[in-house]
Formats: sequence, C-alpha cells, structure tokens
Amino acid sequence: MSGRHSKHDLETTPDDKLLRKLEAKWEDSPTRVLRWHKGLDVRGLDCNSAPGWDGDKDDGGALVAAHAEELSELQERLFADGRSGGSRSVLLVLQGLDTSGKGGIVRHVVGLVDPQGVQHRAFGVPTAEEASHGYLWRIRNALPRPGYIGVFDRSHYEQVLVVRVEGLEPEETWRAHYDEINAFEAEVAAAGTTIVKVALIVSKDEQKARLTERLERPDKYWKYNPGDLTTRARFGDYLDAYQELFEKTSTDVAPWHVVPADKKWYSRLAVTELLLGALRSLDLGWPPADFDVEEQQRLLAET
Ligand code: ATP
Repeated sequence: MSGRHSKHDLETTPDDKLLRKLEAKWEDSPTRVLRWHKGLDVRGLDCNSAPGWDGDKDDGGALVAAHAEELSELQERLFADGRSGGSRSVLLVLQGLDTSGKGGIVRHVVGLVDPQGVQHRAFGVPTAEEASHGYLWRIRNALPRPGYIGVFDRSHYEQVLVVRVEGLEPEETWRAHYDEINAFEAEVAAAGTTIVKVALIVSKDEQKARLTERLERPDKYWKYNPGDLTTRARFGDYLDAYQELFEKTSTDVAPWHVVPADKKWYSRLAVTELLLGALRSLDLGWPPADFDVEEQQRLLAET
C-alpha cells in the first residue's frame, strides 16, 4: 500500500510515481540505516549529516507529506485492531538533549495521525508521588493501551542519563538499570508492543545556536530554561552516557535508532519513516465485521 490509492487501483497515478521517486532516495531502509550497531560511536557522529538519504530538504519534506496518508491509515487500522480485541500497540521512545527537537517530532510527525489514537507522555523530574515508587512505575502507567501509539518524550532512560551524569544514584544502582530496562522492554514487547527507540543527537554548536535563538526571540523565551546550561556544561558526559546506553540496551526486541538532529527536516523525515516502518511491520488488516453485513444493510434500508 502506498500513496493515495489502494493496491486495487490499476492505474499508476502521477502521485504514485512521485512517491516511488522519493522513496528511492533512501539508499537502504531507514530502519536499517539508523539502527545502532556495534562500532557506532555517538561521540564521533556527524550531527549535520543525513545518513542514507540521497535527496535534499525539499525532497525530505515531500516524502513526509507523501507518507502522511499511509501513516494515518495504518494508525487507524491499529486502532481498529485494538477495538476488536487485538493486543498490539506501538511505543515511540524519544530521547535527546535539550533542543534536540523532541517536541518538533511530536508536533510534525506524530501530529500526522489522529490524536485520538495517540497516548503522549512527557517525563520530567519525578513528582513526590512518582519518586516514592520505583522508576519504572510511572513508565508502566503510561504504556500505550492496545490499538494506541504511545509517545514518550524522555523516558525510563533518564535513569541512566541525568541520574548518572548528575550523580543522583550510586553507580552500582544506575548500572543495574540496564538489565532491568532490557527485561522490562522484553516484557512489554512480548505483550504486543512494538518499541521504536529514537535518540536525537544534536551537536554542541547547534545546541548553542538554538539556545541563542530562544534568548533572542520573545516568542521563544518560554522554551528557555536556565537549567539547560547546567546540562550543556556536561555535554560530553551525556554523550558518554548515551554511548553506554546504546551498547547495553540496544536489543533485538527494542533496538536503538541514532538520528543526527542538526537538520530538523532530516530528523523529522527519519522518525516518520521509522514510525511508518513499525506500523507496516504489523501487517494490519481491517477487522472483519462481527455482525451480518447484509442483514444490517437490509434493516437499514427499511428504516
Ligand atoms: P524538555 O527539555 O524535555 O523540553 P522541560 O525543559 O520543559 O523539558 P520538563 O519536561 O519539566 O522540562 O523536565 C525535563 C527534565 O526532567 C530534564 O532535565 C530531565 O533530565 C529531567 N528528568 C526526567 N526524568 C528524570 C528522572 N528520572 N530523574 C531526574 N530528572 C529527570
């Protein structure tokens, strides 16, 4: 299924041709291109690159627009599946330092589908109640119900990022989280959730440019948080923490995808494609009617 027309249409429309041309600009499947693999060191990543994409910014925007309809239809199929007793769901985990564009992904990528089928949750500093439970408590409570796309803006991974870098727990405690998280995600995946983990990696220079803009534009002041400078001062420590997190928690059931984030158009394209890939992999049909269609048509006609 691609583009506006179902596979039953015999004609190839100009839209289909354009879509195929744009899709061909991926040198390989974006899921494969972006998946973390041994030997990929985030500290040497070119954050301004557009891995696997042989097009420009306009092409990238055009492919996102061209895929929007399929994304939306697959989300509806997922929702219908959940309504019909299916157990499947998708969880998009977004991690990234301040200014890496997590919010933009939610608005521009997740925003392509019906918000009624999305369970979005941002995780900040734990509240008193959250802190009184184990760190996975609030995460479990926010997992997507069957049929939904869950979106985590930050996640349980903060427990091996900010907690590690700021020394909020002893090393042996946060180190134990890698295995705990792997076991947790394996359980979540086994229950029917396809987990798509995305790390948006912005460079230190680009982060400075984005923070500078926030301080220069009154319409962006609200996005600025003086605490971001504390995090920025530990930029290298965070990259070390990301690197170890990829090494320890990129598993077959829940692999990490490392997305260079200096080009916003690229990171949005990349996440659109990762989400689409996850939904396509579910091979969702439309649930059959659980009533007699002809009888209902007859009854309706009589009204
Ligand atoms: P963002 O920077 O994501 O746009 P924000 O600046 O509006 O968000 P919040 O969403 O309120 O801030 O909180 C994000 C902050 O919460 C981050 O600094 C993050 O490191 C911190 N945080 C998240 N989870 C934890 C945790 N488990 N322990 C400590 N701090 C955490």
